[in-house]
Amino acid sequence: MKYLIANWKMNSVDLDVWEREFINVVSSQNNFPKSDELKLIVCLNLYDYYVLSKKIKSSKNAIFNKISLFAQDVSQHEEGAFTGQISSKFLKKVGIKGSIIGHSELRENGDSEKIVFEKGLKLKEDELSNIFCIGEALEILENKNKKSFLLNQLKTFCKNNVSPDLLAYEPIWAIGTGKEADSENISSSVSIILDFLEEKKIYCPVLYGGSVSKSNIEEIISIPGIDGCLVGNSSLDGEQFAIIASKIKS
Ligand code: PEP
Repeated sequence: MKYLIANWKMNSVDLDVWEREFINVVSSQNNFPKSDELKLIVCLNLYDYYVLSKKIKSSKNAIFNKISLFAQDVSQHEEGAFTGQISSKFLKKVGIKGSIIGHSELRENGDSEKIVFEKGLKLKEDELSNIFCIGEALEILENKNKKSFLLNQLKTFCKNNVSPDLLAYEPIWAIGTGKEADSENISSSVSIILDFLEEKKIYCPVLYGGSVSKSNIEEIISIPGIDGCLVGNSSLDGEQFAIIASKIKS
């Protein structure tokens, strides 16, 4: 199984257009990956969730019909006076399947390793899935501290029965910049991650995120150990997202 995740962030997406463009690409291709070959996930805000979940449920397109919807963040708290936050209990109640945690844009806004772990714990307690994001800043890469940095992120998360359900390696300098990481850098990070997971006996698909587009997806998905991608900008366009999906094969 391969994975393709859309992260819409706080962007406006015209859901009618997105659906139409996505389905046009799917219908025009004979060998579009089947839903047991490629899992599609869209991470979106709760307002779009209500509309898109209805569209998905009522869709006659077998691929569109199988898209799973996730949140982009979850609170580390159970409930209480936490203005603007959303608990995993609430996500579950409305039908969301899980959430991204540890995205670099949230880490920059104060999510420490401890908070990311607590968010993972809350999702686990409510039987929701996590998409755990890790990745180094350019300075860490240039100072050759990538390995110890990634291992620290992994170690502080993988404890007390918490572990990634899907792990996205996203070098911070490649997110939203149009500068995708080179294959050599992705491969060396994937080896660090896979060695750690093997030692801890954790099975979890490893994804890459950072300026993935229809032009570089084939190169990225062919890197050994990469089970899929997390896509930001290129996922806002239903056609582009479907083209990326069509190039991912199990
Ligand atoms: C992201 O938001 O995690 C991401 C990878 O964005 P982009 O594809 O735009 O770099």
